[in-house]
Amino acid sequence: MQKKLLISVIFLFIFSFSVQAQELNIRIEPKSVGQGETLVIYLESPGTLKNLEAEFLEKEVRFYEVGKDRYRAILGIPLTAEPERYNILFRIKTKGGLEIEWKETVQVKKRVFKKETLSIPPEKSKHLTSKYLGTEGRKIRKVYKREERKQFWEGRFILPAEGRISSPFGAYRVYNRGKASWRHKGIDIANKEGTEVVAPNSGIIVLSEDMRVHGETIIISHGQGIFSIFSHLKERLVRKREEVERGQLIGLMGQTGLATGAHLHWGLCASGTVVDPLEWTKKKIGD
Ligand SMILES: [Zn+2]
Repeated sequence: MQKKLLISVIFLFIFSFSVQAQELNIRIEPKSVGQGETLVIYLESPGTLKNLEAEFLEKEVRFYEVGKDRYRAILGIPLTAEPERYNILFRIKTKGGLEIEWKETVQVKKRVFKKETLSIPPEKSKHLTSKYLGTEGRKIRKVYKREERKQFWEGRFILPAEGRISSPFGAYRVYNRGKASWRHKGIDIANKEGTEVVAPNSGIIVLSEDMRVHGETIIISHGQGIFSIFSHLKERLVRKREEVERGQLIGLMGQTGLATGAHLHWGLCASGTVVDPLEWTKKKIGD
């Protein structure tokens, strides 16, 4: 959906910019977005901006320059966001010193998520309350904050492994009769141990290590705040700082860490929020 935002102070713009067009182009896709889905904001300015700021769900929105006077932000909608209308507040400052503030609205739609009950065998159930769960989570969130201005990914993502989707994104999970419960922050693809795991899109390896709960784990930065995580691998075949291309072999499926069988856990993170990776395989996001 394309929207042209006419600034009421056009005459000021004429002094600020020496170009013909006195308007900003702003496009928000989609205007109505589901919980755990991805939202893209495109902004085109008629002249160079000194500053561009936006705020959504009390978080600062990070814009990247994607062309001359063209900016883009890719945001994840939290799984727990209430289905209602939200404001995105924008604030820009032009080189001429003009400041403009305005807001746009976005509708968050309710999505239905699966409920799963899982039983973890006794030898692995210690992971459910393990102190490592917290430390690993913090470590992963820290990696997700890494700045990478370059965009590595291109077009649609591919599924990183062949197999059956054994658990969808966002499922409510109850382990060992309520001993622990949380939301599933990725998708699980089940297949034989040793099944090849490939990069769903291009990027750079920002983590490759053995973790107690997540098992053998790899994180790819696809650039500009987009990350993929792969857990419970049998083997990791890439090193930190290595660049990978879409379709490149990165590891083998396994059941290391907290896993009840051989599967790949694939998670996707956009601007610090976990999102449904399948959406990225169904359409191009950010083009
Ligand atoms: Zn999983």
